[in-house]
Amino acid sequence: MPELPEAETIRCQLEREIVGKTVRRLEVHDARAGREHRSPKELASLVEGRRIQGVGRRGKAPLLFLDGKRPTTLIFRLGMTGLLRVVPAEAPLEKPTAATLVLSGGKHLRFLDQRKFGGLIARPGHDVNSTPDFRDYGPEPLSDDFTPEYLKDIFSRRSAKLEMVLMDQHVIAGIGKICSDEICFRAGIRPARSARRLTKPMCERLWQAAREVLSEGIACRGSSARDETYLDVYGVPGSFQDRIYVYQRTGEPCRVCGTPIRRTRLPGGRGMHWCPECQK
Ligand SMILES: [Zn+2]
Repeated sequence: MPELPEAETIRCQLEREIVGKTVRRLEVHDARAGREHRSPKELASLVEGRRIQGVGRRGKAPLLFLDGKRPTTLIFRLGMTGLLRVVPAEAPLEKPTAATLVLSGGKHLRFLDQRKFGGLIARPGHDVNSTPDFRDYGPEPLSDDFTPEYLKDIFSRRSAKLEMVLMDQHVIAGIGKICSDEICFRAGIRPARSARRLTKPMCERLWQAAREVLSEGIACRGSSARDETYLDVYGVPGSFQDRIYVYQRTGEPCRVCGTPIRRTRLPGGRGMHWCPECQK
């Protein structure tokens, strides 16, 4: 599932490729991609003819800011397997393409989604924090709103396992299963600890680890781990998987101490990966 580093990589690349272009047409190839709207036609009417004024991101979602009389934001929900690809108009349509934005200047922005959990949502205005999609979201972990004090305060009110709290978009925006595993490892804290029981020094270590993991993830253009379909807008895999300490390394020796990495199941079948020696 794309997380903040993948969404931020997409944002940066789209900024280079499509800002200033006009959305000539939106073609919805799979109606599920427009399920938030009454019809694909309605969705198309909200974006067609608009100029792309800028590109943004909130949590795991890339955003297009469209200008016009009624400014609009187009949100890309990447779900489990959503990808964005910028291609020449004549490029053949790949099978999981769910929607195509036909842009001025002969390029297409294509939304591919193998497992069909993602979609496109158009909302009025450019202030995404006032939309129902992001109204209750937590702070961006690379912003100044995200501090060790914020973590300590919000954790003190949560009894769930640390890893579950880290992945809760209402607590921190943008963290999923890869980043949460790696953040807990680098902070030296067991992911199954109750968030409420974390001390102030632990919150400081988690804050630091979160900033490090996410910044490194972005520098590596995201992660194309074994079970991930993620590729950037040019179709190139990311490389953060080469720097991973615990995620999907069950039974393999810890890169720091050699102890086999463990996997503990979470409700819903997901697993947390951790080192019983390095994480306390
Ligand atoms: Zn270890």
